[in-house]
Amino acid sequence: MSFDPGGLATPGVARLTPYLPGKPVEELQREYGISDALKLASNENPLGPSPRAMQAMQSLLQGINYYPDQHALVRCLAIRHEVATEAITLGNGSNDVLDLVARAFLLPGSNAVFSQHAFAVYWLSTMACSAEPKVVPALPATHPRMPYGHDLNGMLEAVDRHTRVIFIANPNNPTGTWLERAELQTFLNALPDHVVVVLDEAYTEYVDLEEFPDGMQWLGRYPQLIVTRTFSKIYGLAGARCGYAVCSGAIADLLNRVRHPFNVNKLAIGAALAALEDDEFVTRSAATNRAGLQRLQAAFAEMGLTTMPSVANFVCVDVGREAAPVFEALLRLGVIVRPVANYQLPGHLRVTVGRTQDNERVIDAFATVLNA
Ligand SMILES: *Cc1c(COP(=O)(O)O)cnc(C)c1O
Repeated sequence: MSFDPGGLATPGVARLTPYLPGKPVEELQREYGISDALKLASNENPLGPSPRAMQAMQSLLQGINYYPDQHALVRCLAIRHEVATEAITLGNGSNDVLDLVARAFLLPGSNAVFSQHAFAVYWLSTMACSAEPKVVPALPATHPRMPYGHDLNGMLEAVDRHTRVIFIANPNNPTGTWLERAELQTFLNALPDHVVVVLDEAYTEYVDLEEFPDGMQWLGRYPQLIVTRTFSKIYGLAGARCGYAVCSGAIADLLNRVRHPFNVNKLAIGAALAALEDDEFVTRSAATNRAGLQRLQAAFAEMGLTTMPSVANFVCVDVGREAAPVFEALLRLGVIVRPVANYQLPGHLRVTVGRTQDNERVIDAFATVLNA
């Protein structure tokens, strides 16, 4: 008997390499015997979850024998974004929504266009459909305004008649780079009408820039646009898994055909509803992040290290040598950051912004390791 499951897998799945999550704190503690590990590896909210969201989840436990009902959250999001309820598609994290888009629009022979150094899930979801990822080189490291950023002109040129999806992260992970309103608008104006565009705005609540666009404002104008958001970052609910897409009712109808009926669990829905009401937590998270991001950027600059421009809750730093040993040495000091060699950035590490004391610890750890 020579049963070979790999030979039976679809071509895309056969070539896939699984997503590499950040190293869990428990794993480091187990492996290195460290009791006070600090994880700044997955862009999680360092302030914890919104207290209101925690309370909501606790009170929902009693009804957990019932299947979840999405209506209240869908209605709340529709009001917030001033769209019809038909425009909202909930996901088990926004990753789920990205996957729904791929499943609804991509098949073998079609392609999805996205940037080099863009979020790994675009590649994963495209491959899972056995479609072709068309990866467009990022702006060069020497670019005066946005090194490593998305090259929108290049992306537009990459669109061919087989393209069905374009994924854009604004700001992007793991780079932190962003696109301004005017350039993105020019890009949207130039698009042919056989593609859908996903504007992934996972970090948008952190951004405080006049020129930074809110994709929601374009939905009425561009029927091919899908804007995605998440509760994983500023709302502090990464472990609960909840995100959503906002798009035309016609696209949402397609996404809902491939969506599993109860894809977002009851606790996540309750937590999301409560978190949306917790303005204080969101404001505090944004302020903590702004101060921490500046502190990290300044400290890395003082060490003579170059960071990528970032408006998100992390910074990608060029360690000036192979990053893997630096990552390992930081681990031994109990500090977990994120290697990004799998994003074709073998000399960089991505550091999530923490609380004041977290940032000081990671800065000290970098100084120790790089001066050793
Ligand atoms: C973190 C992140 C997400 C959010 O993923 P969830 O599935 O909602 O946790 C989406 N896009 C990008 C670019 C991200 O960095």
